[in-house]
Amino acid sequence: MSADAGRVREVLEVAARHAQDWIGSIPSREVNPRKDADQIRAELGDSLPGGPTDPVTVVDRLGRIGEPGLMSMASGRFFGWVVGGTLPAALGADWLVSAWDQNSALRTATPATVAVEEIAAKWLLEILGLPGTADVGYPTGGMMANFVGLISARQKVLTDVGWDIDRKGLNGAPAIRVLVGAERHDTIDRALRYLGLGAPTEVAADGQGRIIPQALRTEFERGTGPAILCLQAGNLHSGAFDPFREAIALAHEHGAWVHVDGAFGLWALASPALRPLLDGVELADSWATDAHKTLNVPYDCGVGIVADRKAIRGTFGVHASYLLPTHEAAGDPVEKVPEFSRRARGVPVWAALLSLGRNGIAQLVERLVANARLMADGLSRIDGCRILNEIAFTQVCFAFENDARTDAICTRLIADSSTWISGSSWQGRRVLRVSVSNWSTTEEDVAVAVQAVKRAAAAHPAP
Ligand SMILES: *Cc1c(COP(=O)(O)O)cnc(C)c1O
Repeated sequence: MSADAGRVREVLEVAARHAQDWIGSIPSREVNPRKDADQIRAELGDSLPGGPTDPVTVVDRLGRIGEPGLMSMASGRFFGWVVGGTLPAALGADWLVSAWDQNSALRTATPATVAVEEIAAKWLLEILGLPGTADVGYPTGGMMANFVGLISARQKVLTDVGWDIDRKGLNGAPAIRVLVGAERHDTIDRALRYLGLGAPTEVAADGQGRIIPQALRTEFERGTGPAILCLQAGNLHSGAFDPFREAIALAHEHGAWVHVDGAFGLWALASPALRPLLDGVELADSWATDAHKTLNVPYDCGVGIVADRKAIRGTFGVHASYLLPTHEAAGDPVEKVPEFSRRARGVPVWAALLSLGRNGIAQLVERLVANARLMADGLSRIDGCRILNEIAFTQVCFAFENDARTDAICTRLIADSSTWISGSSWQGRRVLRVSVSNWSTTEEDVAVAVQAVKRAAAAHPAP
């Protein structure tokens, strides 16, 4: 073994030791970081030395000094935002991806990682019940998966009216109407801004945040020309699903492309019991989901799925006006994501799916939902606590008598640090929002969280 190879072994051993110490500490650890960013920065030192530092020392310093500044997002007691933890197989595979260091843009250049990503793509389409011929790309997250769907949509609806966007761009192009539900995720607006499509037209939503078909019909009938509709599988606050069959039929009657933001909710399709909630979703044109949320792979991994290969490869393909030769059915990864050089993000997806198996994936999703119901049940017994949503999926939204008490309880709860639940606003009031997205969350974790809310509520009694 060369001296350098020996050093690599030591570096990886130090990294593995810090990783194991961290993961081992999570079950009994408070959720909040012990130090803030300024403290960590001061301890690391922010002036770059002129000379080298031994690589083992570098990694050891990172592990030691960084640790107190870590938030236990991977804890089963972490219910903030929508995050998810990391399945062991996905973590191990992610390490290998770094060690292998493959620039996974082309089939011929990096056959192993591309093959693994293609298998994962096939499995995803099977599990989600989406068209087997759809293109699957692995961008960095749900945000960019929305971008992938929407840029394909832009390509298709403009091509359909004879506008060559690749050559002429958007200057002077026919206007595209973009219709979105009133409660779409902010990343839809963000993706539309990246795409030069401006602010979308909002369509009214119901009390659970679902788009109202009658309002959608009215909006479609208000205009003509190229159009895109964004639907949602999994509302951030309620977990609710848009009425896909009806909304998609309406959109297609008007020649519109339908994109579905299913960052976490699309995974309900993996469960035979939950699948009917998304009836008709397979009829859409593009879908975005996250692997780093419900599937529990490490950051950063989204999944962009587009039924019309010509639309997605027309944009990302390296040749303008791309024509899809039938023998290139598989395509190259570079044709399915905005990035050029790329990490093989789909490899941890493959590992997660294989380690769970088809039934295990369904059970994972069903366990998250069961724990969300358990959480709602426990919370509803706390004096003054009201559950605001129908528990359709993994989200629980609750509030107390007034905004002031809800906020006070939220602040107290976060200071308590035994659990983490997001404060938010929904439908005109302050709320607390639980997302059960971590594979490792147990019924005991849910009980700990309910107890913590109970303590916080007792400390701030109703007036
Ligand atoms: C998380 C989320 C996104 C954004 O996904 P990122 O992985 O954070 O980029 C988009 N839509 C919904 C509904 C989400 O929950």
